[in-house]
Amino acid sequence: MDRIGLLGGTFDPIHYGHLRAAEEAYHALSLTKVIFLPTADPPHKKRPDLSPFAYRFEMVKLATRDVPYFEVSDLEARLPRPSYSVRTLSSLRETLAAELFFILGLDAFLELETWYHYEELPKLAHLVVVTRGEGGKEAFCAKAKALFPAIREEEGLYRHPEGYTIRYLPILRLDISSTYLREAFRRGLSARFLLPEEVRLFVLAKGLYRSGAGADARGGCGKSPE
Ligand code: NAP
Repeated sequence: MDRIGLLGGTFDPIHYGHLRAAEEAYHALSLTKVIFLPTADPPHKKRPDLSPFAYRFEMVKLATRDVPYFEVSDLEARLPRPSYSVRTLSSLRETLAAELFFILGLDAFLELETWYHYEELPKLAHLVVVTRGEGGKEAFCAKAKALFPAIREEEGLYRHPEGYTIRYLPILRLDISSTYLREAFRRGLSARFLLPEEVRLFVLAKGLYRSGAGADARGGCGKSPE
């Protein structure tokens, strides 16, 4: 049976931190492929300046197009809003005859109790919690046991009695964030080498993240950039 990784994200914009998480999970878990799932209506991010789904989807397509085992899905644009992960995973379970691995970062996992019907997630897919570097294992273990008291420890991971596994996967630490990148674009700073070049050029061509640009007193005596 295929083993499919799923990486959900706002991806506003996608960057090498996201791509590296997918790449490392692909290899560490011997996945068949990783499907990126841009979030249509992020339940937890009500940013008025959120880029349109079509742009975020296009950026993920550009970032992944040369990797044969990466795919992008527009599923969340076709599902009811907001984009609850439990709804997305239920839909994928109906259409994909595969073992599913939902990849999420430690920050997201540590807030999982705020997600809609989070307790259903390990009944739908394996959960793979990626952490930037080796830190965070204690926090991961404490949270996993608090969220899912019935889980059992088994060969270095947790198993849910009614479902799948929950594991911790340390990956290379790349301190890149979409927040930092949006701010860099807004201020006209270089974002080169933090995200794929095609994505950087797309952002510039579409003028994304530029609202408020020019407000900085660049080159003057005002606040200096960084
Ligand atoms: P995001 O900011 O675009 O990030 C996507 C994923 O990449 C996150 O898991 C994030 O982990 C990880 N990541 C970001 N920067 C990284 C780096 N430098 N190195 C390694 N990993 C990095 O997306 P998001 O807004 O957090 O959303 C993630 C998913 O959670 C989406 O599918 C969203 O729909 C889902 N979600 C669902 C609910 C719900 O169902 N109620 C609520 C909230 C989120 P970190 O979390 O550690 O930054």
